[in-house]
Amino acid sequence: MSLMTDLKELLLPRLCPVCGKLMMQTEDILCAYCAIGLPRYRVVSIKDNLLLRMVWDRADVKCATTLLAYNQHSPYHNLITEFKYHGASDLAIRLGRWAALEVKEYGFWEGADALVPVPLTWWKRWLRGYNQAEVLARGMSEVTGLPVLNLLRRTKNRTSQTKLKGEARIKNAEGIYKAIRIPDEWSGKHLVLVDDVMTTGSTIAACAKALLDADPGMEVSILPLALTRD
Ligand SMILES: [Zn+2]
Repeated sequence: MSLMTDLKELLLPRLCPVCGKLMMQTEDILCAYCAIGLPRYRVVSIKDNLLLRMVWDRADVKCATTLLAYNQHSPYHNLITEFKYHGASDLAIRLGRWAALEVKEYGFWEGADALVPVPLTWWKRWLRGYNQAEVLARGMSEVTGLPVLNLLRRTKNRTSQTKLKGEARIKNAEGIYKAIRIPDEWSGKHLVLVDDVMTTGSTIAACAKALLDADPGMEVSILPLALTRD
């Protein structure tokens, strides 16, 4: 086992996705240095916090939290870049597991029935080979045992949200996301929306609104992996 591990390390050296330095066998996901400096989101309440205040004029969201909070120039954003643009879907699975374990400590999963990833356009999913929000949700599912349901679809290929700011971003998100017909067994349930990054909240709010419009009896919580601020 250790010989195989040593050989694997030699042939396939693992680099820290944040700082790019070589990782040791004992290090998982990040190098020890970056793990110590991890910008964890400080949870005061999952029912009254910054994330909820960012969306509550657009959607009635029950609970919200995240694993990381950093400004947009932080090297920790490399974590997202790696699994979003460089094909590191295994990293998304492990980060999903990690986030699920962290938020479990303050009761985020209590009463939750299923995970719903924020969708991509079909062509972007095809180009990338996966939807990173769905892969994060699959990692969370391994910890929570909750099913992953693709109940949303992105209806129009409008301008990418990453290129827009403020009001333009909210307007762009509105009407893009629609819920499929909610199967009876999921009607009135508590669903957790999963995304990679929350910036203004316009995307995740539009998704929450789409679910609540389709079934006003359901409850929706939100769990982006990271919150970025200017
Ligand atoms: Zn590092």
